[in-house]
Amino acid sequence: MPCIHPTDRIFVAGHLGLVGSALHRELLSRGYSDIVVRRRSELDLRDDAAVARFYAEAQPTVVFVAAARVGGILANLQRGAEFLHDNLQLQNSVIWGAHQAGVRRLIFLGSSCIYPRDAAQPMAETALLTGPLEPSNRAYALAKIAGLELVQTLRQQFGHDYLSVMPTNLYGPGDNFDPNESHVLPGLIRRIVAAKREQQSEVVVFGSGQPRREFLHADDCARAIVDVAERMDAGTLAGSSIGRAGFSHINIGSGDEVSIAEVARCIAELVGYAGRLRFDPSKPDGTPRKLLDCTLLRGLGFRPRIALVDGLRQTIDWYCQMLDQQSALLRR
Ligand code: GDP
Repeated sequence: MPCIHPTDRIFVAGHLGLVGSALHRELLSRGYSDIVVRRRSELDLRDDAAVARFYAEAQPTVVFVAAARVGGILANLQRGAEFLHDNLQLQNSVIWGAHQAGVRRLIFLGSSCIYPRDAAQPMAETALLTGPLEPSNRAYALAKIAGLELVQTLRQQFGHDYLSVMPTNLYGPGDNFDPNESHVLPGLIRRIVAAKREQQSEVVVFGSGQPRREFLHADDCARAIVDVAERMDAGTLAGSSIGRAGFSHINIGSGDEVSIAEVARCIAELVGYAGRLRFDPSKPDGTPRKLLDCTLLRGLGFRPRIALVDGLRQTIDWYCQMLDQQSALLRR
């Protein structure tokens, strides 16, 4: 018996974001048709009174919390206060509001940055709170850890089927390519495509190029999240080795890691850019490695389908098409 039923009304919070939009598509493709979404202009998820009114009106039975204030390493360093405040506020409204409205099942999305900076690799779910966090994204990580704790305590206190998932670094079409906000892959794609089109002789890559990251396509992540939502309930989690150790969440990763230098070279090759990549050590490297141990997820049968090189090609194509459409519109 699937843990989400065809008759459930599902609220995807953050349905226009990278992973929220992939989740929305994945749910529709699996035949779930009663899906509720709200744009930011219709519902400010940080406003608990507005969220409570929304729950009372829309009456969802399942909630995916894919909404968050997110950004790359520079945005996290420059605006830690907003990352902490907005995420705490949003989580409290959406998760606590779900509890008060009697939502039956909830999946909260965290991030692999919740783990200690120097955690042993790959990082199992049990590595949480075993050491100091990476300073560059500590504010965001602390907000996510608080959300995870809220989900876990609601489950323990009230027996709700509420779970958290911790995805690795995600990417794909529809990502945020803003130069000040973006994560590494959209940031590099934007600059390398511009360098190719404008025949620039070099592209700057932040940091030393040595940090290693595990990347997962947003569509694969969405599949994994719906697999978890369909197959895992609080009882199954409690019976797993992670649950027995008192941990509340499930890692979602690809199992493959790559250095920033390698991925920058791969993007340059896919774009056909032959100029120089210049590493800028004045920009922060962040965590040296962030590889997740996904034993629990693999136990549910999940395997990623989109290889990094294919996902990057698809994302670059999407981005170039979007640029071309924008310049066609400007020429009109
Ligand atoms: P993180 O995984 O939380 O550290 O987030 P990011 O995706 O922002 O950064 C990952 C790594 O890529 C860090 O070591 C950055 O220094 C490096 N990096 C290299 N070029 C870029 C870039 O253009 N943008 C971003 N955000 N990071 C970059």
